[in-house]
Amino acid sequence: MSEKTVGQEMLDALSYKKKNIYEEATPEKISAIMEYAKGYAKYLDEGKTEREAVGAAIEIAKAAGYTEYKFGDSISVGDKKYLNQHGKSVILFRVGENDIEKEGIRILAAHVDSPRLDLKQIPMYEDAGMAFLKTHYYGGVKKYQWTAIPLALHGVMVKADGETVDVKIGEDDSDPVFYINDLLPHLGQRQSAETLGNAISGETLNILIGGLPYDDKEVGEKIKLTALSLLHDKYGVTEEDFLSAELSLVPAFKARDIGFDRALMAAYGHDDRVCSYPAVTALVDTPDSKHTVMVVLADKEEIGSVGITSMQSDFLVDLIDEISSSLGKNRIVVRSKSKCLSADVTACYDPNFADVYEKRNSAMISCGTTMSKYTGSRGKSSTNDASAEFVAFIRRLFRDNGVVWQTAELGKVDMGGGGTVAMYIANHNIETVDLGVPVISMHAPYEVVSKADVYSTYEAFVAFIK
Ligand code: MN
Ligand code: MN
Repeated sequence: MSEKTVGQEMLDALSYKKKNIYEEATPEKISAIMEYAKGYAKYLDEGKTEREAVGAAIEIAKAAGYTEYKFGDSISVGDKKYLNQHGKSVILFRVGENDIEKEGIRILAAHVDSPRLDLKQIPMYEDAGMAFLKTHYYGGVKKYQWTAIPLALHGVMVKADGETVDVKIGEDDSDPVFYINDLLPHLGQRQSAETLGNAISGETLNILIGGLPYDDKEVGEKIKLTALSLLHDKYGVTEEDFLSAELSLVPAFKARDIGFDRALMAAYGHDDRVCSYPAVTALVDTPDSKHTVMVVLADKEEIGSVGITSMQSDFLVDLIDEISSSLGKNRIVVRSKSKCLSADVTACYDPNFADVYEKRNSAMISCGTTMSKYTGSRGKSSTNDASAEFVAFIRRLFRDNGVVWQTAELGKVDMGGGGTVAMYIANHNIETVDLGVPVISMHAPYEVVSKADVYSTYEAFVAFIK
């Protein structure tokens, strides 16, 4: 092997370069990455709505000895608890030996809601020999992507007497699936001339649910009646019960490996279960940590983090206050010393759409978990811009623990933008920075991530809380 030139040595010492994890990984590391992805795929398939993802996270926590906490319960060192916020958000927390007035709480915050199609309150109708359900989309969806794919119906119907009926149809191979009609290209001349955002309108996202007329010559709307009678037989519900229901259509796809080499994986809802799962597993895999740790899985991020189960709800600070007062600590000091990784996805550089990215400052696939010092849009509008000091603290932590990571902005400065929950946590006087997995085709019904980046995010979280 030839010796490095002086210039080459200088270049290696002084310049910064991202590393592809797969390129540098040992065979053992690659099998750890592949193995971890299997557990993640299972979590994805079990939790396609925020309620299901919360349920799956609680199951993982319970298996690790976590028990339910309710506001008002006292808390002591050594406790492993979960706070179930209306079944749609959850905080898993563990109280460590270290003094929280000196070092605060280590917080990992991710979200478990994903873009989808919700049913309207009076959804069912019949037209031209078919029955349908009206929808109202949730979060940032490109509407054309949701037509002509298999959809599954998930959610709850709560009857007037309070009984909750869980609905899940379209996930078993023997289940029927649901569908949104699209226009045949032969008659699509006018549609093709429309802009991408207008070609499919919100009011055409109607779910095809049936075609069999009820066996009674005398009644009208026979196909709708068949659907209602089947729902009544299976769940004991009537049309009025849709008024107090949360039913959503999500892609019926299962998580699958992508490509010949299986380095990447596709699934519905990587955003943001791809950060939720590493957060939960990092927590249960670090039982000896002396830190007090909270893992927050929040709802409603995709619609602006509003409402009682969202990251802007007080339940996060209320819990910090409760932990502080139970331990006889000053809650204001505790918050000021706490640190948070706001764990959400970012856009992965995509050579197919290169012109919207600024390559030097984009997340590159398989180059590791991605820190975004700031998010927002235009002139850094609506972002928590983490301090250089806090970024340096995280850098040091990752360096000392061998975490391969990178930093990125979403895309070119004037191309658009986005934000997540970091700023809401930072508003509570908690130091926060964004960290998460780069995603290809974010918000599409089927998104792609690198298994190496998922594992790197897990390693980053372990380093932060251990
Ligand atoms: Mn997200
Ligand atoms: Mn999102």
